[in-house]
Amino acid sequence: MRELSQQELELITGGVYTLDTIVVTASPYWGDFGFTDFWHDWWSYEVYDDYYGDNGGGGGGEDPPAPPPCQSHDAATVDAYSDQLASQATRDIKNQPGYNNREYAVLFYRDGTGVIRSSPTIAGGNSGESVSIDLQALGIAAGTIVGMVHSHPAGVYSTSTAEAIINRHPSSNDWAAADQIIAAGADPSVFTHYIIGPDGTLREYDYSNRSTYDPPRTSTPNGGTISQSLQPDPC
Ligand SMILES: [Zn+2]
Repeated sequence: MRELSQQELELITGGVYTLDTIVVTASPYWGDFGFTDFWHDWWSYEVYDDYYGDNGGGGGGEDPPAPPPCQSHDAATVDAYSDQLASQATRDIKNQPGYNNREYAVLFYRDGTGVIRSSPTIAGGNSGESVSIDLQALGIAAGTIVGMVHSHPAGVYSTSTAEAIINRHPSSNDWAAADQIIAAGADPSVFTHYIIGPDGTLREYDYSNRSTYDPPRTSTPNGGTISQSLQPDPC
């Protein structure tokens, strides 16, 4: 009996190599209050509106200045700024003592004034296979999340070449977490998963391009590589 190809094995197992899980909760508000409405009320667009002169301000007829990248709502600018934050977060994650055997995650979100910020670095469990993110505890509104970076550490996901390659990508559970975040109001045209693969490379996976990357297989295209030496633009 012939041996199954790697691709056939992956189809049968349904991605057995990609069991890592990002658990996003906002207890108690997630279920009890209608999560989306609650958080939308909480978020103020005040700073952003001011940049475009919505509050009056004595018409000199001049164009309002472009906001700094950290306050921009232009999709390309937000993407570039998120790349910078992901690069910075990757350096921090790689400095964690458990980097090789634990997952670490950092969220990027708009705070109450409309500024895109990074969360603290969140450590996963000793098993290496999941990170739990409690948005309520972090004070982060799910609908304001623009992206997140997390690691698939070599010490957990490199037991075979195929496993190491597959885990360059977001797992199916990672995409499910993105679905959850978007259902809570995050912009699907903006949200990006950044993965630090078992090979140590940082790659970006746009939610808007998910069909290219999900399901994760050895044959799945890699996301674009992001430099790990980017510095965030002044904010
Ligand atoms: Zn993952």
